[in-house]
Amino acid sequence: MSSESDVIIIGAGAAGLSAAKELGQLGLTYTLVEASHRIGGRVYSEEIAPGVWFDLGCAWLAGGATNPFVAIADELGITLGKDKSNLYKEKNHRFQRNGASLNKDQRAACLRFYDDSYKAISATAKQGHDVAISDVVDLDNEFAIPFLCNVAVAWGKDIDLVSTADFANATGELGFPVLHGFGNLVAAWGADVVVSLNTCVERIDWSGHRVTVGTPKGVIAGRTALITVSTGILAYGDILFTPGLPDWKTEAIHGLPMGTETKIGVYFDADVFGADGRGYYSTWNDDGNAAKVDASVMGLNTATVFVGGRHGVWLEKRGQQACHNFAVDRIADIFGNDIRKHVNRSIVTAWSTDPWTRGSWACPLPGQAYQRANLQRPVDERLFFAGEATVYGGQGTCHGAYQSGIRAAKQIASKLNVKP
Ligand SMILES: Cc1cc2nc3c(=O)[nH]c(=O)nc-3n(C[C@H](O)[C@H](O)[C@H](O)COP(=O)(O)OP(=O)(O)OC[C@H]3O[C@@H](n4cnc5c(N)ncnc54)[C@H](O)[C@@H]3O)c2cc1C
Repeated sequence: MSSESDVIIIGAGAAGLSAAKELGQLGLTYTLVEASHRIGGRVYSEEIAPGVWFDLGCAWLAGGATNPFVAIADELGITLGKDKSNLYKEKNHRFQRNGASLNKDQRAACLRFYDDSYKAISATAKQGHDVAISDVVDLDNEFAIPFLCNVAVAWGKDIDLVSTADFANATGELGFPVLHGFGNLVAAWGADVVVSLNTCVERIDWSGHRVTVGTPKGVIAGRTALITVSTGILAYGDILFTPGLPDWKTEAIHGLPMGTETKIGVYFDADVFGADGRGYYSTWNDDGNAAKVDASVMGLNTATVFVGGRHGVWLEKRGQQACHNFAVDRIADIFGNDIRKHVNRSIVTAWSTDPWTRGSWACPLPGQAYQRANLQRPVDERLFFAGEATVYGGQGTCHGAYQSGIRAAKQIASKLNVKP
């Protein structure tokens, strides 16, 4: 580990890695420290069966062709599921209530409700108001349950805690999956970056002329620090700042609490979906159980069941078996009980209790969407901030985090008077 550098980067997720690459190109020195045993942060793949990869975190190259990881994947010779994005078009969104598909009229009414809700959110944002989504959508509508579930999955919070301004500013296109894991793509892309793994930053002291960063392996000194950890880590006080961060920064951190998306991947020993069954479902029952289900979107014998917000956190806390049972029940709601015979194994995420993220991504509280800009603002021209929460537009995404790292690197170079 270098003892002195221009920039100490904290966190080797997409933001920290892209910042490191950019700083290197700009001729600045850096020391990149990562608490965990691996790079990639919230982008991480596990092989759940030979050749079958499951992304515990980020799985889709949002925005499709414009996503910078498309070019990176091409360069690395990594295959993307470009032909799979069609499954996420609205026309392919399937709705199942109490185990039955909506009929044509019900489906039209459901889509109309979704559309009306999006319009209400967008109109509120255009008027300059930032309120909770629950304040502007019709909660009594018969299709409110799947809508609530979809928002909780996409935002990690329930609609009473999701900001209309932030929602309206997000890009909707889901894009492409990575057949052999987005986590593997990011790990391959970041492999040439020198990272000190298993190095948890406990303290950042910016009281003197330099910034010093305390880790169990020793103290590192630098001219500046770039902090890319989640707002969950910052809000929890995992890193002690001396002096403390200014009030405006602390308010920004607390205005952007972490949401939770829980993913349960189920692998079957046979194709239980059939070619016609592949796609993207919202399923809900009158007992209140609702989930989003991706059935074999990559053409494999897998389904991913998603829940978010309070339900996601609750399920995570009940443990792996409860998550497994919930997921198998939801898949059976759609495809019938025979699928149970073919369940081979499952994999369950637990982002809300992950010690290095404390949640899935930041979701601004209603009225707090503007705090993303404050989170991004440097402190004293020595503490810089990047990461998905600092982005407005590609917020909560991997490419947003990537772009924020490049932005921060340029910002630091400019402060240190380095000409590109
Ligand atoms: C379930 C889930 C699904 C998602 N799906 C998608 C998707 O389909 N498409 C998409 O674009 N995005 C998706 N995302 C979001 C995307 O994964 C994140 O926005 C992005 O990866 C965040 O990158 P980052 O660099 O900002 O943060 P991180 O990846 O969290 O990187 C920060 C790093 O800091 C490290 N760290 C934490 N504390 C310390 C410390 N004290 N000292 C040193 N290091 C520390 C962490 O270990 C981590 O590696 C998903 C995320 C989740 C959780």
